[in-house]
This record gives sequence, C-alpha cells and structure tokens, in this order.
Amino acid sequence: MKVELLPSSLPATEAQYLVSFLVNDILAVDAGSLGLLSDLRRQERVRHVFLTHEHIDHIATLPIFLENVYEPGPECVELLAVPDVLDFIHRDVFNGRVWPDFFALSTGEDRFVHGTPLRVLEPVVRAGLTVTPVPVSHCVDTLGFLVDDGRVAVAFPSDTGPTERLWEHLASAPRLDAVFLEVSFPNRHADLATTTGHHCPATFAKEVAKLRRDVRWIVVHRKARYADEIARELEALGLRNVELVKPGVAYEF
Ligand SMILES: [Zn+2]
Ligand SMILES: [Zn+2]
Repeated sequence: MKVELLPSSLPATEAQYLVSFLVNDILAVDAGSLGLLSDLRRQERVRHVFLTHEHIDHIATLPIFLENVYEPGPECVELLAVPDVLDFIHRDVFNGRVWPDFFALSTGEDRFVHGTPLRVLEPVVRAGLTVTPVPVSHCVDTLGFLVDDGRVAVAFPSDTGPTERLWEHLASAPRLDAVFLEVSFPNRHADLATTTGHHCPATFAKEVAKLRRDVRWIVVHRKARYADEIARELEALGLRNVELVKPGVAYEF
C-alpha cells in the first residue's frame, strides 16, 4: 500500500496547513490540499474521496479538485462521508454562492460528484481497499478510517483527542502496520488541546500505550507555529517507533 500526505506548501516543506492523504493514488482521505497537487494527472486518478469531518483544513480544496478533474460524462468522483457531512458540504460550500451546486448539476448525464453516505463501523470496499469508518473524539463528529488491502493496514484517526473506540477496534484488527496520529499542540497548550479535541505530546503518549501493538506511529497535523516545539517534546518522550510525517513522501507498507 502506498500512502502520501500531500504537501500543503509549495515547494513542499515540513509545514502542514491542510490535510489530504492519497492511498495508492486512487483514494483520498480528506481534501484539504488535494486540489493543489501540481500534477493534474495525479488529481485525475483520484476516484474516491473519504471525508473525516467538515473542518476547513480537511475540505479546503475539494471544490477546486472537483472542478479540476471534471470531464463530461457519467463517470465522476465519489465523495464518501456520514450523511451530516455530505449535507454540510452541500449547504455551506456547493450552495450556488460559494461554489456552484455540483450535486444539483450531477443529476443528468454529466456528473461532477456522487455522494455516498457512510455508516459508522460499516466497511466499504473501493479499489481493492477495505475502508472502515470508526468514530473518534474531536470537537465535531469525526471519523477515523482503517484502510486494509488484505496484506497491510493503515489507520488515519484524523483530528482527535483522547479516544477509546478507535483503539478497541484497532486492537482486534487482523493487521495494522501504521497509524498516522495527530499532535496539534505543545504541552503548554494541553487545556486548549482538550477543549478543541486534539492531542499534545503528553496525551499522544497515552494513546500509544493504549494500543499495545507494534506499529509505526507517524505524527501528523502539527500546527505550523508549534511544529518545532512539538517535535522537541515528542523526542523527549523517547518513544519507540514514533516519527514525524514527511509531506510529499510516498510511504510503502
Ligand atoms: Zn478538525
Ligand atoms: Zn484538522
């Protein structure tokens, strides 16, 4: 399985402002920076976009991406999210003001997008990948995704603070190779992390201990202004198998 956190700065740097993962170049988890990919053909290969929640860093370039890859005809991108998120996207973004109503424009022969509702803990199979949505603990309802190709599995918990159901689910998953877990704030902002449903290094360490599985922990979602401070605090924890994500690098599992 190939996984890349798409860069959100050009040229690609370690700074992460937006969230989009590409899996095997065909499936995306979130669309924060998807529409910024400089190689348009790579955008065109993405056929399924799974949304974890409606926050802007996760959907920012969805309208641009759908515009970029549109081709007249019945084939179109599939957008997968819980019904509420599909509804928010429709009413607040594709509402005929912020952006054309791509949902209303997709009822005839030519389609921009097709929405598919997801249900918690009901796996869907796309492009040979089984994707299981698992709820996490953020300030709005948010899904993490477990993506399994039958040989390896990778978890994308998205934005979350301390949570339980995800780790219970991952503990019994048939395989698990890596977890792309967030750390948004440094420890001095632990209260803010709690209020907003995010991690600081101290709570990250507790989540690692909850899983009790030997996996690669790849840290994502460091707020850019705290990125170095978070890196130092993580380093000081001395945890095994913890690394900082490199945006724009293809991870092979
Ligand atoms: Zn969020
Ligand atoms: Zn976020």
